[in-house]
Amino acid sequence: MRLTTRALPLEGHRRKRSVYAVLLALALLPAAVSLIRNLLVATPDSAVIIVSAVALLWLLALSLVAQSRRVPLAVLEHLVLWGGAVLLIGNMGLRLYLLPLGPETASAVVSSLLWLPLLFVFSTIAFDGDTSLRYSAALLVLLVLVTLPHALAASGGTLVIDGVGTMLQAYLAFAVLIVALYRFADLHQRMVAMEETARTMRHLANTDALTGLANRRQAEEQLMRELRRAERYGRVFSLLMVDIDHFKELNDRFGHQAGDAVLVDLARRLSALVRASDTIARWGGEEFLLLAPETQLEDARRLAEIVRRHVQDNQLAERFEITVSLGVACYRPGDTVPSLVARADAALYLAKRGGRNQVRQEIVPSVAAL
Ligand code: GH3
Ligand code: MG
Ligand code: MG
Repeated sequence: MRLTTRALPLEGHRRKRSVYAVLLALALLPAAVSLIRNLLVATPDSAVIIVSAVALLWLLALSLVAQSRRVPLAVLEHLVLWGGAVLLIGNMGLRLYLLPLGPETASAVVSSLLWLPLLFVFSTIAFDGDTSLRYSAALLVLLVLVTLPHALAASGGTLVIDGVGTMLQAYLAFAVLIVALYRFADLHQRMVAMEETARTMRHLANTDALTGLANRRQAEEQLMRELRRAERYGRVFSLLMVDIDHFKELNDRFGHQAGDAVLVDLARRLSALVRASDTIARWGGEEFLLLAPETQLEDARRLAEIVRRHVQDNQLAERFEITVSLGVACYRPGDTVPSLVARADAALYLAKRGGRNQVRQEIVPSVAAL
């Protein structure tokens, strides 16, 4: 038989383990209190002492197992659930059929009954919806099998648990709880799936499918954010437009796929060259934008030169020399995204006009012209 657990990434499994370790350690408390209380009273109830001691040892063992990676999570979860069931429902059976009935029987049965819902909750957390429902239903059936014969007998005679009525209430309450937990888990799962879809959609909407870089949409948002930051805090940032030279010719001679490969390779190289705080995006077909926060025009120009030389020195395509032209512009107070991009574009145009494979920067207005 294959034991299953709720499908989760590895990190989720680690978290579950530590949550279980804490919960099991907490569950030790009531067992310990019940054991100590009975050891201290004048007329100790030996059945309670034995059951509490067994529960204590069981929980202690499980909380140690919870921390050991060697025991698979699914095994641990089954041990918790079915171990708990044996302890709680077994305790009721023991009390109702094997030990002499007395006033303490009812309180022992009721206290087991009170802890039982925790197993339904645990089952919901630990297992997938349908498995959890099956397990919880099995627990309920087990409870009915163990307690109903006594309740039926009690309704005609000795009232240890208050007859069939009370037990029916308990069965019904647990059935409602199981259904509610099942519905809740289902809802939760749907919400998680919806969040996952939304995350994927967001990623797709912001990412260039070919290169995996930020797309123009994301780059514009990032530019806007950087612009606001520069305005608000009097900071500076620069923009580099990178355009592959004669790319159309490469496509025409070697095919679109060869062109695609060059785009992917260049994207990878640009990402490796820039700082982690820089944004590199695919702005258009064979045009990339590099946003360098906290970078003055002069430093941006140097960075552009590094990029240009890197492309020139590393053969990106066989039988075709790839070079890039770059236009550099730096934020000025009063800029908008279009005005800044237009200046970088104009500088790029100058680089193309000047013969390509070169860097040009925006024309900085002289003080006299301002
Ligand atoms: P210039 O040196 O002036 O920049 O010339 P160019 O040929 O690089 O520029 P042009 O604007 O004339 O042509 C750009 C080419 O880029 C045309 C288009 O087919 C190609 N292109 C755009 N997007 C893609 C793409 O995703 N894959 C491939 N393989 N080619 C693309
Ligand atoms: Mg080009
Ligand atoms: Mg172009």
